Amino acid sequence: MRKELLGKPIAEKKYAELQERIKLLNNKKTEPKLMLLRFRNDFSYYNSAIIKTANKLNIKTEEIYLPQHKKDIEHTIEILNKDRTIHGILPELPISKELDERWFLSLISPLKDVDCLTPYNLGLLIHGEVNFFPNTPRSIITILDNYNIDTMGMNTVIVGRSLEVGIPLANILVNKKLNRHATVTVCHSKTRNLLSYTTNADILIIAVGKANFFRAHMVKEESIIIDVGTNIVEDNGKKVLVGDVFYQEVKEVVRAITPVPGGVGPVTIAMLLENVVIAAERNVA
Ligand code: NAP
Repeated sequence: MRKELLGKPIAEKKYAELQERIKLLNNKKTEPKLMLLRFRNDFSYYNSAIIKTANKLNIKTEEIYLPQHKKDIEHTIEILNKDRTIHGILPELPISKELDERWFLSLISPLKDVDCLTPYNLGLLIHGEVNFFPNTPRSIITILDNYNIDTMGMNTVIVGRSLEVGIPLANILVNKKLNRHATVTVCHSKTRNLLSYTTNADILIIAVGKANFFRAHMVKEESIIIDVGTNIVEDNGKKVLVGDVFYQEVKEVVRAITPVPGGVGPVTIAMLLENVVIAAERNVA
């Protein structure tokens, strides 16, 4: 097995396939379109990467800033749900602190929920049924599959319990119907003695959002490390992207590891854009 689990070649292969599917949609006078919902007016690394890649593939994108009041948000999302030229809706998480997450996510039509965030689609997933596969968990599973890493019976530890990553991923990995059969532990900021879990993990998946947080003594030798973190830090006056893992150090002791950039991130975007294409395909079928 390669030591570096590269996501970029997997994403490139997916884009070649999507280009053909988008041409077929265009022949049927459909242009796939993704709406990105934002709460904050700051730079989003994730959204800018999505928009850049979508443009190359001829997938339309539009970023909108949501209004503050609940009634106005409801009205805005109702319009997007009804608009037949919009196939996917992706909200930025976390949402504003003043709003209830479950209330907000349930406004989005499950038919356009291209990251499986709505209570309806997440509920289906827990039952082992998939309307849209959540993008980051699917990216992680695609990378594992691509490098022939079988999760069956493996002691798998996920650090982070967000609705985008840890929670759906844990459910997918243990769900009998979804055939992954891993033994999963989910750790978070209240976990006591985190290292007792991480240093025993055969597969360690890290999504905490803390730059270079995981050092060599925190992982098991010869384990598989999936670094989900994307953190922008200053390095010699330049802004650079780093993961949650101190890559140069950890890579020396493990069997395989995803780099940042070039690991999970590119595949996540490919999975998202595929979900937009799937939503558009369902619309013309
Ligand atoms: P998030 O909502 O920011 O939550 C972070 C999680 O880490 C929480 O569950 C938190 O615990 C836990 N945590 C924080 N500090 C910890 C500590 N010291 N020890 C153990 N657990 C700790 O997470 P997210 O949205 O999943 O994002 C995580 C990172 O992944 C970010 O860097 C994000 O940009 C990146 N990301 C990358 C992709 C990709 O495709 N590459 C996709 C999604 C996210 P509590 O729940 O107790 O607070």
